[in-house]
Amino acid sequence: MKINILTLFPEIVRPYFTNSIPAKAIEKDIFSVDIVNIRDFALDKHRTCDDEPYGGGAGMVLKPEPVSLALEKVTENLKTPVIIYPSPAGIPFDQSTAYELSKEKELVFLCGRYEGLDQRIIDYYDIKEYSIGDYVLSAGELAALVIVDAVIRLIDGVITNESLREESFSSGLLEYPHYTRPAVFKGVPVPDVLLSGHHENIRQWRLRKSIERTLDRRPDLLHNKALSEEEKAILEN
Ligand code: SAM
Repeated sequence: MKINILTLFPEIVRPYFTNSIPAKAIEKDIFSVDIVNIRDFALDKHRTCDDEPYGGGAGMVLKPEPVSLALEKVTENLKTPVIIYPSPAGIPFDQSTAYELSKEKELVFLCGRYEGLDQRIIDYYDIKEYSIGDYVLSAGELAALVIVDAVIRLIDGVITNESLREESFSSGLLEYPHYTRPAVFKGVPVPDVLLSGHHENIRQWRLRKSIERTLDRRPDLLHNKALSEEEKAILEN
């Protein structure tokens, strides 16, 4: 996969790719990243990238020309780029979208600043707008990295499939709680079943915890899930 990130602040984006999972995946050639400074495409000597909104009101808007020039430069050698604008006004980004995006070959992220992009950029380049949650960040870099992080860990070879299989959302449920050594911490013991070595009992306990947690914290997930007979039985008890 090729990832391109267009931003006014490359220095915010760059460090993410130099550590841990993304750095190892880049080393293994699983994906590559190109970070492009939109300001390099500004048209005036002051390298201006924002302007006042038509119609008045607070804040500034990213000027369309530098964004458009940067986008065209970045995409000129790409075949099927998916262009993403993280935006609080976008559709909610979720795990199934992360799965879909992990199958793409070329992703381009456009990080917003100020009040955001000129709408004509979004319409002209058929850009997908995703929101990472119902709150407003001051800029798009962190949101773009949230999406990148959720996507790249789903690409084959980045992390073990075993870890992905039982994660929150992969089965439509939140994940069960985890425990590690010591067996007693601050006077609180690990649940007995996890020390039993009985795999079937552990599986059932984990499923029950997943369902209880989902019911408590995210009942909306249960409404959208096709439940197995076992899951229905746990819910009814
Ligand atoms: N005026 C915009 C609105 O009310 O919808 C908010 C602009 S915000 C201050 C600046 C930039 O941060 C946005 O262009 C977007 O790229 C990013 N951003 C802020 N909140 C976000 C969210 N919840 N999801 C994705 N991106 C977000």
